[in-house]
Amino acid sequence: MSSSERTDLGRALCIITGASRGLGRSIASEISRLVKPGSVLVLVARSGDELRSLQAELAGSEAGKAGVLAECVVADLGQMEGPEIVVRAAKGAFSEAMDHIILINNAASLGDVSRYTKSFTDMAEVDSYLSLNVSSCLCLTAGILQAFPQRAALKRTVVNISSLCAIQPVPSWVLYCSGKAARDMMCRVLAEEEPDLRVLSYAPGPLDTDMHQEARTHTAHPSMRKSILDSVAQGQLLTCEASCAKLIKLLLEDTYTSGAHMDYYDL
Ligand code: NDP
Repeated sequence: MSSSERTDLGRALCIITGASRGLGRSIASEISRLVKPGSVLVLVARSGDELRSLQAELAGSEAGKAGVLAECVVADLGQMEGPEIVVRAAKGAFSEAMDHIILINNAASLGDVSRYTKSFTDMAEVDSYLSLNVSSCLCLTAGILQAFPQRAALKRTVVNISSLCAIQPVPSWVLYCSGKAARDMMCRVLAEEEPDLRVLSYAPGPLDTDMHQEARTHTAHPSMRKSILDSVAQGQLLTCEASCAKLIKLLLEDTYTSGAHMDYYDL
């Protein structure tokens, strides 16, 4: 089957971080419809109740009834043991019948956007931000690649949920921009090192989620905050479903250059 005819993502093990709400939750719902029976979604976040409600929703869906399973992993990816807990759960969920490993590194935080770069003198604060937003993403990706090494008939896809902020500076968003830039570069290096992998950084556009609410409430830079609020007033926020649809299209077509940064608005 040529890539343009592909209509599913195979019998997959799909690990989605930050699946409890926002974009991650939409990605989980959408992917459940596009994987074959026998697939397992590993849903990761700190909020167990939210994950279990998504798990129940998926179990009652057509995909769930057809044999797509979801497992919840309650883990804090900002803590040292977070990535390892997820890797262990992924190994436990894998079956030899699976032909596709999909890792969606979606979990992230905005960081404190109420201050400017010159205020970040506390290394523990910066380290804590980078632990969740950069280190856990790298260590989880590495752990999954080790757990599921390259072999015939096993496709492996790593998605980094990126942002325009990976390539464009935003005043008062130093942690967020730095973290997203680092994750993009991590993906580019990975794509160079592992030619068999499919690696994608997807910038989803401005989404109507808790993170965006936090951004428009707390951004320190006055004209930046105004421009965010204006864009909301003009109805420019996207739904998670609309953005997720473009990500899924990219994954199904599978023609992007591995390691590339692709933006919702470029597609
Ligand atoms: P939300 O803040 O709505 O959701 C973030 C998700 O990450 C939640 O499921 C949360 O779950 C999880 N998470 C946060 N901290 C941790 C942690 N320490 N350990 C494990 N999971 C954690 O964000 P969005 O849905 O808006 O964002 C999703 C992705 O899209 C992010 O990578 C973001 O940077 C990116 N993005 C978002 C944009 C927007 O406008 N919203 C624009 C561009 C990119 P829980 O709290 O249960 O742990």
